[in-house]
Amino acid sequence: MSSVIDGKAVAAAVLEECRTETAELKAQGITPGLAVVLVGDDPASHVYVSSKVKTCGELGLHSRKIVLPATATQDEVLAIVRELNADPAIHGILVQSPPPKHIDEDAVVRTLDPRKDVDGFHPENVAKLVLEDPTGFVPCTPAGCMRLLAAAGVKTAGAEAVVIGRSMIVGKPMALLLMAKGADATVTVAHSRSRDLPAICRRADIIIAAVGRPEMVKADWVKEGAVVIDVGINRVDDPSTKKGYRLVGDVAYAEVAPKCSAITPVPGGVGPMTIALLIKNTLQAARQIG
Ligand code: NAD
Repeated sequence: MSSVIDGKAVAAAVLEECRTETAELKAQGITPGLAVVLVGDDPASHVYVSSKVKTCGELGLHSRKIVLPATATQDEVLAIVRELNADPAIHGILVQSPPPKHIDEDAVVRTLDPRKDVDGFHPENVAKLVLEDPTGFVPCTPAGCMRLLAAAGVKTAGAEAVVIGRSMIVGKPMALLLMAKGADATVTVAHSRSRDLPAICRRADIIIAAVGRPEMVKADWVKEGAVVIDVGINRVDDPSTKKGYRLVGDVAYAEVAPKCSAITPVPGGVGPMTIALLIKNTLQAARQIG
């Protein structure tokens, strides 16, 4: 019988910690501030950005939402980033991904002041993650997965962990966190060129699926008693719903869940953690910058 890891509840607990930390910082005269920059009119990005700003408000953080038109030039985006780098009321800056195609996202990330890069994508923060330097910012989604494992009481030390996906946003940092001192897992990273993925997964005590393919991980890929963290968020057509689609993960939940000791659902698993860890990172930035 598997236990369902409730991401909403764990995220709520992290946000309560953030509320306390925000009050402590304010008592020291520091109001933590997050700026969220959105370029273009992608409806999903608007929803993400609004919920980040709303969460800041609820916890007492200062926030700024900057919306640029889809026609904004690279120079205009970089000018905003530089302005925010110099703004003492702002400790964290996030440029919502994906920007329009004509914007060089890598150049935007490299322009960020690494001390304010609360997404943890700047090369300086990537290096700090590799070096296990706690002053760096850990990307929010894999950091959220680590919190979920901890909250579920999963012992990572010595465990065989398989991370499916090698993106800079999820897969790679996830692998680094699992192999870091303290977590101490034995990590395999699988990706689109891996041979016999089902066999690789069957070895795993812990599977982290971060692929972007609906319900790819099947029951016969999963060892009895394994822990499964499903990062995937995929829209699949479903005419029976009001929106005409529903969200599914990268794991075939209905058939996999009965084999697991613990599993995250989609939605309500990893998703809510990402925003909670973003606020955590903003508070870390506020403490470090002052
Ligand atoms: P990505 O497209 O950047 O990377 C996908 C990875 O999967 C690649 O490394 C690729 O090698 C690997 N892959 C592709 N096909 C594969 C296959 N058949 N077998 C094995 N590996 C394969 O995606 P990403 O940004 O890492 O996101 C992955 C998923 O996680 C997406 O569904 C995304 O929506 C979701 N996501 C969720 C959150 C959250 O907050 N819950 C945050 C970020 C991403």
